Amino acid sequence: MTVKAESKTYENYINGEWQAASSHETQASINPANKNEIVGYLSLSTKEDLDQAVSAAKKAQISWRKLSAPARGEFLYKVANVLEARLDEVAETMTKEMGKTFQEAKGETSRGISILRYYAGEGMRQVGDVIPSTDSEALMFTSRAPLGVVGVITPWNFPVAIPIWKMAPALIYGNTVVFKPASETAVTAAKVIECFHEAGLPAGVINMVTGSGSEIGQGIIDHPYINGITFTGSDGVGKRVGQGAFARGAKYQLEMGGKNPVIVAEDADLDQAVEATISGGLRSTGQKCTATSRVIIQRAVYDEFKEKLLTKVREIKVGQGLDGETWMGPCASESQLNTVLSYIEKGKAEGAVLLHGGRKCEGPGLEDGFFVEPTVFENVESSMTIAQEEIFGPVLALMKVDTMEEAIEVANDVEFGLSASIFTTNIQKMLSFINEIDAGLVRINAESAGVELQAPFGGMKKSSSLSREQGQAAIEFFTNIKTVFVKG
Ligand code: NAP
Ligand code: MG
Repeated sequence: MTVKAESKTYENYINGEWQAASSHETQASINPANKNEIVGYLSLSTKEDLDQAVSAAKKAQISWRKLSAPARGEFLYKVANVLEARLDEVAETMTKEMGKTFQEAKGETSRGISILRYYAGEGMRQVGDVIPSTDSEALMFTSRAPLGVVGVITPWNFPVAIPIWKMAPALIYGNTVVFKPASETAVTAAKVIECFHEAGLPAGVINMVTGSGSEIGQGIIDHPYINGITFTGSDGVGKRVGQGAFARGAKYQLEMGGKNPVIVAEDADLDQAVEATISGGLRSTGQKCTATSRVIIQRAVYDEFKEKLLTKVREIKVGQGLDGETWMGPCASESQLNTVLSYIEKGKAEGAVLLHGGRKCEGPGLEDGFFVEPTVFENVESSMTIAQEEIFGPVLALMKVDTMEEAIEVANDVEFGLSASIFTTNIQKMLSFINEIDAGLVRINAESAGVELQAPFGGMKKSSSLSREQGQAAIEFFTNIKTVFVKG
């Protein structure tokens, strides 16, 4: 039986109004913990709807950029307050729509609120420098200009935090936004946009158009009036965004996948390393771009670490994210579940040894959801698919090494370079790791998946277009520098 938790259709948000897609077609967003439950319907928009949104954003940008940055910040503070008042509701929608536990969904929504406040505050901070001119009677300085209209394309795994960490800096620096959320989490996205609406942002400053990646995402890539595109998602789609934006001279920023390692040195605090490996690898069902997926362990502590890890993994309770007892929810969609299961099969076929899990979960309460067991492999070699490709599921690959040099070599032996962590009590090992690891986020005695909103975030190698998001780094993408020379 189909349960309609909320059968509402979520419309596009264009020029300050909710508006049905011109196609009048919709798509159900379902609960991955119970595929019979419809969370809501999203609008399947067309290029016509996108055109309207872009026109509204282009028009609104003229007056939005003229507001002072502190005045723009006041709007972001208001959005933060509305989202705070609706925190539980938004988090519950997120849990129902993509499966992460309610506790994690609340944490992410709180993160969104903090990001809004952080960028509201940025509206009061310095944006340029005075540079001495060779002309003693002149003043030379840098200022920052907005790009214009920014297209925001986001994935489903952080449906509140990622859109906000793109939209808040876009807005504070004077851009207007056309936002295309992941279809998988469009209802959660609509609730975030409702908060912007309730906060009273001027019409057209923020617009949301839902629909398929091939129609609306591609439409953003190609649109001549979109001056910058900020994208987070998979490597394949990211490449299309980058190539398309480059071809028409738009600025772009891409954050993509990871294959993040943790190194466990022989002098590590093993209990701490085990906790962090489980948290970093399996929370959010492994569906974080910064999730730990390769566990590289020095031989001397391999067996002890493995036993401690397996003891804890066996205790993990998989279930509905809204159940307070649940530690790990389902995969976010059926296709995600199938991807994870196919990687597990590849792992077995290529000779990795399955130590725990590996199957779709069965049992009461789990039969209608996309649940997979937390999975641990050993004897994993760098040449295997599960050591190279992003799985985006709760799968840990244990790899045994003799020396620290070998550990770092294995850690770097992938195309990605997002996050990496090491557990060691030895300062020299920490320093070697900091210097030699190819990763944008380097974490010592901490899980690979931790990110702080006030610090730059982004990857090396194939994980990113090598730009950075968040913190003060965001200004680099969302503005252009103007060098100003003034002579009386
Ligand atoms: P995805 O399939 O690449 O989708 C991301 C966004 O792109 C969605 O809004 C999607 O729309 C849209 N899209 C799809 N096809 C498109 C096209 N042809 N042109 C333009 N846009 C298109 O990624 P995902 O499966 O949602 O997310 C998982 C991936 O995101 C993983 O690889 C993960 O590592 C990465 N990620 C990276 C970071 C980071 O900061 N580095 C953070 C989180 C996630 P539809 O939803 O409508 O298809
Ligand atoms: Mg869903």
